[in-house]
Amino acid sequence: MRKVRVRTHGVEYRTVARVISLENLSAQWRPELRFLVRAADAEGITKVAQLRSAGLTNLISLTSSLHVADQWQAEPVVETGGILMDEDVVAFADHMNHAHVLYRYTDQHHTVFLTNRCNSYCLMCSQPPTKQDDSWLVNEAVEVANHIASSPHTLGFSGGEPLLLGEHLRLVLDTFAHQHPSTRYDVLSNGRLLANPIYAEHMLKGLSERVTWMVPLYGHADFLHDFVVQSPGAFEETLAGLLNLRRFGQAVQLRIVLIRPVLENLAALCEFIGRNLPFVREVALMACEPIGFALANPELTDIDLREWSAELSHGIRTLKRAKIPAILMNAPLCALPQILWPYAHKSISDWKRTFAEDCATCRVKTECAGLFSWHHPGKFSMKIQKIEGIINV
Ligand code: SF4
Repeated sequence: MRKVRVRTHGVEYRTVARVISLENLSAQWRPELRFLVRAADAEGITKVAQLRSAGLTNLISLTSSLHVADQWQAEPVVETGGILMDEDVVAFADHMNHAHVLYRYTDQHHTVFLTNRCNSYCLMCSQPPTKQDDSWLVNEAVEVANHIASSPHTLGFSGGEPLLLGEHLRLVLDTFAHQHPSTRYDVLSNGRLLANPIYAEHMLKGLSERVTWMVPLYGHADFLHDFVVQSPGAFEETLAGLLNLRRFGQAVQLRIVLIRPVLENLAALCEFIGRNLPFVREVALMACEPIGFALANPELTDIDLREWSAELSHGIRTLKRAKIPAILMNAPLCALPQILWPYAHKSISDWKRTFAEDCATCRVKTECAGLFSWHHPGKFSMKIQKIEGIINV
């Protein structure tokens, strides 16, 4: 989630608003929404103030000029970096010196964060869970659904574990499906709570057909999956959850994060999926994000995918035999043998993606997923090696 430096005054806790120009305001204004209205100069701020006095109390002026802001008594929101764009949905508050961009239409990837709580404790978790009550995120997600002006092609929901929200998750999914019926939705969930058939029915019955569940599976047996997610019984629960997803006709993408113990057993896992879970729509093989708990367990998580080409190729072939498509995510092309490039996806979110210095002159940069912005060259095993010469991708 992008953080943008702002100055605010008189704004209540985590106000969610849509950025808009004065010109577009009349076409988009609705009483139940809040708008951050661009006011380039004192005249613009005066105009917004007049509109507020006339009853449009859901307007807050936004200026990029400290000079203009300092002249004004009822201080507007100030953002001098010029980063906020029209139609951005942002959250801000007086106690914050920044705004969070919760949605930007022009981004390739869109994610709504629903909770930081989780019932697993994965060895390589990029976002270590916390126990605090963060149920306010549900209301914020609903606000985001309402404030988005242009529906995205695809939008993901992540956590933590979204299923911990129970009926509130269903409320969020139904609100988005209602407001943005053309959008496809991905729910990143460990699926464990769906093992309960009553819960599964409440969550899944009548759910929009545009939802895909993205469920991690790290082993062909409990000793491996339960070890990776640090939760005894998780393997059985995940499988039961997957079967309930099937029962309610839900689309499933299985997600396999490529850490050492998983790669050592990848052949058995792909075989297991092909034999027992043939209904899954796709399997995503994902390079590990070098952040969070992954940094605490480098002996398990810090790997160079080049050394595992044979295992990756074998796993993909096994899935192919079972007629289950496989994709590779988060992996720079130079970390993969060329034969696997057709499976590689540009999956790293816009705000998290970076490239190394060497990438500037790499022949395949435009097709490459790039690197997580927290990847430091030389610090991790994954080495970057620019591709030169003629390439037939
Ligand atoms: S050198 Fe950079 S752009 Fe080229 S394949 Fe590697 S990571 Fe991608």
